Amino acid sequence: MFYLLQLPIKNFLKDTEILTPPIDITLKDLLKLFQKYERNFAVFIKDSKPVGIITERDVLKALHEKYSLDTPAFHLAKRELFKIKSKDTLFNAFNIMTENFIRRLIVVNDKGEFEGVITQQDLILHSSAELFKGEGKIRDLLEMKDKLIYAEESDTLDIALSKMVQHNVGSLPILDASLRPIGIITEKDFLTLDSDNLKTPLKEVALKKVFTVGIKDPIIKGIDLFKKYNIRHLVVVDDEGRALGVLSQRDFVQSLTCTYADFLESNLKQAKSFISLLPEIVLELSECDSECRITWMNDFAKKNLGEKYVERDIYTLIDFDDWNRVYGLLKREKMIYKEKIKGQDGKIYEVTGTYLDFGIKEGKIKLFLRDITYEFIKEENYQREIRFLKSFLDNSLDYIFVIDKDGRIRFANTAFKKALGFSDEEIKNRTIFDIVDLSEEDLRKNMELLIKKGVEIKGRRFYRDINQNLIPVEIKAKAVILNGDFYIIINARDIKEGLEYERALQERYLILSSFYAFANSLNYARTEEELFQVIEKFLLEKVDTFHYFEVDSQTEEIKTTYLAGKKEYWNDCLSREAKECRVYITGKSFLGKDEHFCSRLKRPDLPHFCIPLIFEGRVQGVLTLIREKPFTEEELKFLEDKVQIFNIYLNQMKLIKEYRELSIRDPLLGIYNRRFLIEMLKKEEKKAKRTGKPFSIILADLDHFKKINDTYGHFVGDRILKEFSDLVGSLIRGMDYFARFGGEEFLIMLPEISKDSAVLVAERIRKALEKHEILISEGQTIKLTASFGVAEYPADALNYEGLIKKADTRLYQAKAEGRNRVVFK
Ligand code: GH3
Ligand code: MG
Ligand code: MG
Repeated sequence: MFYLLQLPIKNFLKDTEILTPPIDITLKDLLKLFQKYERNFAVFIKDSKPVGIITERDVLKALHEKYSLDTPAFHLAKRELFKIKSKDTLFNAFNIMTENFIRRLIVVNDKGEFEGVITQQDLILHSSAELFKGEGKIRDLLEMKDKLIYAEESDTLDIALSKMVQHNVGSLPILDASLRPIGIITEKDFLTLDSDNLKTPLKEVALKKVFTVGIKDPIIKGIDLFKKYNIRHLVVVDDEGRALGVLSQRDFVQSLTCTYADFLESNLKQAKSFISLLPEIVLELSECDSECRITWMNDFAKKNLGEKYVERDIYTLIDFDDWNRVYGLLKREKMIYKEKIKGQDGKIYEVTGTYLDFGIKEGKIKLFLRDITYEFIKEENYQREIRFLKSFLDNSLDYIFVIDKDGRIRFANTAFKKALGFSDEEIKNRTIFDIVDLSEEDLRKNMELLIKKGVEIKGRRFYRDINQNLIPVEIKAKAVILNGDFYIIINARDIKEGLEYERALQERYLILSSFYAFANSLNYARTEEELFQVIEKFLLEKVDTFHYFEVDSQTEEIKTTYLAGKKEYWNDCLSREAKECRVYITGKSFLGKDEHFCSRLKRPDLPHFCIPLIFEGRVQGVLTLIREKPFTEEELKFLEDKVQIFNIYLNQMKLIKEYRELSIRDPLLGIYNRRFLIEMLKKEEKKAKRTGKPFSIILADLDHFKKINDTYGHFVGDRILKEFSDLVGSLIRGMDYFARFGGEEFLIMLPEISKDSAVLVAERIRKALEKHEILISEGQTIKLTASFGVAEYPADALNYEGLIKKADTRLYQAKAEGRNRVVFK
């Protein structure tokens, strides 16, 4: 409702130029100007500042008082000037007009320079007819007027003029005998008439058409007439058409301001009763020496606050501090608009008001109060929610920030600021382009995608902190619209740890798979030699030289060495005492450089890493790695781990070899045992069946061996068994198999040998034994014989069991025939 009134006057200044005649203009010339431009006032300007105003009425008055037409017009314009600044509100302009009973107000800028004039007519022109619908009637306006002043048809011009001047009215209706208006004469008419004809009766003058309005008509009808015919006066008539009064635009303006904004015209009771009905609290205060008393409250205020406040200090109603603030504003600005204040009742009000300065520390204040407690609480809750959300965001470990469409950072949570090392101030001056390690072009493309396509963007980025360090992050960005503008919310998560973890996993995976490949290669090695080839290949990818020596567990002498890679870095250890080696002695690995304690190093300046290989709790060898490049901790660990794996394989290989030997040999004689020989027989049988080649076996049994045992004891018997096996071993080929088959029973398998040849071998053994002197004790020797059974595959049997049986039968036969012989048939 008060919208128009709150606007600055600037908006209402008309484009039409205002008469600003030279300061020395005469009344005559001014009149000519008024007529020429159809104006009814002029403003005098000096140095761009308004210094006076003169109206048609002033000129009329002067003529009536017989001023000469040559009088300088400025002489009549010396009354007080009412000015207002163009940025001030229309509301204040009308306040001043009504308080001072003036129709025009001079508008100036801040420097006091002339900008224009605002008139009551302007209010009518700018007011909306809507405001008057169903409101007051013409009658209401007429009630405020004094009794009707009019001219009769027979009156002369000078009588009419004196009536106007005497009653200070701007127009006179001319009535016929029955008081019906037949015309109207206004100030302006006089100015256009020739003064010589002042004695002319009114009926002889060309009178202006008079416009009438009925007393029962609504006010809006009058306003419409003013607007339509551009007239200044209306004669009010009763039902019979008799004149009751004259209403000027000013009368309408007053009515308008009352209806419009109430407290403009406090003289009008009607206005106050209207205000009373307003659904807002309206207060009128009297100011005296900074003390403000409530002098009037509208009905709504009384109902809501209680009448007790009338004649009480404003502090009884409004919080002390709040009132002082608002009061200061009122004094300074003459007006306040929607200020928030606390009531003594705990409520929150929004207050709009004006201050009218009466001078000498006195004034009148009008206040409109609106209870906004509910909205305020709502706002408070909203703010609290916002605070809660902010604290929620600030609690997040993720970086959350908002940028506008130009990339400026508009919000950043604590985690973000902390991670990047920015203060609140510093973050304000940053853009997304400062933060992200991507080209501005790429970022702008992404922003466009987010905003135009409404997509969500996910990805990995690097953010630059205040020291230009890069932080890896995983981001999710989305555009939102806030108050009609696009913003982008970005949630970023630090993935430094994740990446490091990933990298560590990857590294471990590589190490593990290299170990796996290494172990796999070791698995395929069948001999120690092959094991060494594997480790050499692996180690020489990492080091320049690789050396190994192995110690004989009995003698502690270095028995084997292995040197690979750049051999010029190392002296082979073969001719060396193991005890000289510190690692061999301590059993601890050692990383050396620039040390000369080891005579084997040809380049003591190079880093060398020596690892003991331990087997069954004893150092069995030492492995040395030499490299030009220094070793890192990880590398040392890696190398040592690999060497230890190699050691496990090496040990395993040695054990297998040892157990294998044990499982196939006779522990007393060192020759093969029966089990192994039978395995070999099976193989040989298969081979023979495949190749079609024969093979033979010789079964031998010592003659009367029981007697040897009985005579010389078991110990000598054992020694004789050994001597016999050694003798046989020296008489057969390397490819022949010789095994202890039973107590003193032996079996020799001769691959690819037919029975004839086998018999020759058996004979050779028999004869050698026969001749062989066995030393029993000092000076005492004995001789021994043996019996032999020979059989051949496939001549004697088609499988090895049959072959053994055959040989056994023949051996038995040899015994039976007198011993010390070979039976083969
Ligand atoms: P023959 O000429 O008939 O073979 O007479 P013999 O006494 O050799 O009879 P036989 O072959 O049946 O006797 C085997 C003897 O060999 C029995 C046992 O005392 C002896 N003997 C078997 N194994 C060992 C051994 O490991 N050490 C010793 N000292 N004697 C053994
Ligand atoms: Mg025997
Ligand atoms: Mg025997």
